[in-house]
Amino acid sequence: MTVAHDVPTQQSSVPTVTPTSPPTPASPRLVAAVVRGQRVAVECCADWCVVDHSAENLANLSDLYHEGKTLALPAPEFNRVSKVLVATIRQDPFYVDADECLPYLAFDATGEGDPVSLQPAAALAFIDQAIAHLERMRAQVQQLAEVREAARQAVER
Ligand SMILES: [Zn+2]
Repeated sequence: MTVAHDVPTQQSSVPTVTPTSPPTPASPRLVAAVVRGQRVAVECCADWCVVDHSAENLANLSDLYHEGKTLALPAPEFNRVSKVLVATIRQDPFYVDADECLPYLAFDATGEGDPVSLQPAAALAFIDQAIAHLERMRAQVQQLAEVREAARQAVER
């Protein structure tokens, strides 16, 4: 991911999980996934996964992923509204990668369906940049109001 410029001075820190007692294990449930028409029992974390695995017919077990609820921001565009900044927690339990199959934030900035996987620190860094951007945009809108008023007064003269 490329988020290099305009790093805000205030940085969010990654929340740390400090269990006071042994961590409560997640409560995975066994659900039926369908791979090439064959039913396969897989563990699914009922705590956050909203996928109906039995409704899918996957080509490969590595195509299976767990996914949480999706967040999206409706954004105005010319003649329509698009959903942008689409984010969900996702986990690919059978796709072996450097992240040991741990959950990540699937983030799709444009909403066009091509999400990037972000770890907590990278996600928070982007969120800080987005907040700083929105604050600059708020100031820009204030400037717009002033510019509009000046233009209105010029027309009335
Ligand atoms: Zn699941």
